[in-house]
Amino acid sequence: MTTVGRFRGPSDLHLHSARSDGTESPADVMRAAHAAGIGTASLTDHDTSVGWGEAAAASSALGMTFLPGMEMSARHAWRSVHILAYLFDPADAALAAELDRIRDDRLGRAERIVGHLARDYDLSWADVVAQTGDGATVGRPHIADALVARGIVADRAAAFDGVLHPREGYYEPHYAPDPFTAVDLIVAAGGVPVIAHPATAGRERMMPVPVLEELIARGLAGFEIGHRENTEAGKAQLRRLAERHDLIVTGSSDYHGAGKPNRPGENTTSDAMVARIIARGHGSAPVFA
Ligand code: AMP
Ligand code: FE
Ligand code: FE
Ligand code: ZN
Repeated sequence: MTTVGRFRGPSDLHLHSARSDGTESPADVMRAAHAAGIGTASLTDHDTSVGWGEAAAASSALGMTFLPGMEMSARHAWRSVHILAYLFDPADAALAAELDRIRDDRLGRAERIVGHLARDYDLSWADVVAQTGDGATVGRPHIADALVARGIVADRAAAFDGVLHPREGYYEPHYAPDPFTAVDLIVAAGGVPVIAHPATAGRERMMPVPVLEELIARGLAGFEIGHRENTEAGKAQLRRLAERHDLIVTGSSDYHGAGKPNRPGENTTSDAMVARIIARGHGSAPVFA
């Protein structure tokens, strides 16, 4: 059914549009990837697949292959864990219900953060709504954009280093399932789960190896090793683990348009690994040009 071999590299499998916290439309994200020389691209908005249709049409028109994707929120203890999911069925009822729950809670949580900030800053919920695309998954980046529009901070990075940082006291967490539940749901929906940027520094540092091995036993397919936020020591440890368990390893940009310095194609995934993802995913299909 799936035709491995019809896609063309280089492949960037982690890109965000304004359907979550990127700043460009799904079509413009595909254009940016194409301009960077990318042949196969995945749109991986947070907790939603709502941009797939637009991205697939644009990528086909550009002669690219589109790989349906998403970055699903999870939480392990105090860690925020992001799980990339490829080729899952967006109509799968259990996964769709969990994604609805996450997005709903993100909305209430963003309003609570804004409520806290409004005590000290001239910021309203309407300011955040004005920065959020229709039907987009809401996150702190939209609050950051509202703070920028109000002249309170210079850019998203300054907002994250400042008032949006948990230490500043305005932060609220949002609901997210544990990574075991997330992996189970993605696998049951025919998808291929790959942990995004597993080895970032600081608070969100790597989950312990025994936990990663338990996730592998549950169907975790791989790690996103090529990512600018992974530490070198973490990458080396992940490579050893991936080799031991014959996992898929990916590299991608995590492009967010103007929201982050990350550029399309700054990390890429090998053709062999893309072929493994396509062979393993069966909930939806790649869109070949
Ligand atoms: P949230 O999931 O709402 O807590 O927000 C986290 C999101 O903010 C992540 O998906 C990142 O893309 C984005 N983010 C985190 N740190 C920064 C930063 N320093 N600059 C821009 N965006 C960031
Ligand atoms: Fe993001
Ligand atoms: Fe992420
Ligand atoms: Zn991302």
